Amino acid sequence: MATGSTFEVGRMRVRILDDGVFVTDAGNLFGGSRKAKIKGAMHPILIETGEDLVLVDAGFGPGLPEVLVGRYELRQERNLMDHLQDAGHSAEDVTRVVLSHLDPDHVGWALEPPSFPSATVYVQEAALEEARGMPDGDGRREAVPAVERGVEEGWCELLSGDGEVVEGVRVEVRSGHSEGHQIVWIESGDSSALYTADLAPAKIWLNPDLIAGVDTDPEAARRNRIEVLEEAEKRDAPVILYHEPGYPLVKVRRSEKGFDAVPIED
Ligand SMILES: [Zn+2]
Repeated sequence: MATGSTFEVGRMRVRILDDGVFVTDAGNLFGGSRKAKIKGAMHPILIETGEDLVLVDAGFGPGLPEVLVGRYELRQERNLMDHLQDAGHSAEDVTRVVLSHLDPDHVGWALEPPSFPSATVYVQEAALEEARGMPDGDGRREAVPAVERGVEEGWCELLSGDGEVVEGVRVEVRSGHSEGHQIVWIESGDSSALYTADLAPAKIWLNPDLIAGVDTDPEAARRNRIEVLEEAEKRDAPVILYHEPGYPLVKVRRSEKGFDAVPIED
């Protein structure tokens, strides 16, 4: 079923794209003063439904945002736009962009400046509300003016809860990492795939007890992670791990420590 980083769900084709990798001190993700370096990828996904081209999350954009300079390093030999082009699409072809939440490593190409002139960008109202309350200099707060402008200009749509963005692409609010954090189910008949965003962003996060220092509500993150991964296992759904530095497409199985990633069979 999986060939490289492209697979099908019913008649939809899902492509796992790439927007480089970041390197930062572990302390920036887990809290405390840990100096060990940690590396994460950015894997936005593109869903070709036949009628729509849906991009889910949008990397850091062309460069590291000002607020993260000095704390994060961004390595981008080829970026999201290059990979979009490799897939045979231009930025103008994208019709919808779903943003899981407003952290700068997820909204980059979508907001400032908006790179997808034909697309509607979907943001949960609760995520915007939380970002408005963040202090100056916070990454989420930085996204607020662009989202507000998008709403005013009509290219950004605020969602309040779960729902289908287009047929077969359904968002579900699973907060914890942020308020209004949304995951994406890609569904056709009995087959489905799951994009977990930062609820379970890499293989190490399949352990429900690993809580990020940056999670808004750690208890909600833990509970939602277990529920969502159990659902993925029950459905035998491939799971796309946005920040996984290794191979980002896995299936999950309950284990003693939480969940294991198992290789996808062809
Ligand atoms: Zn992230």
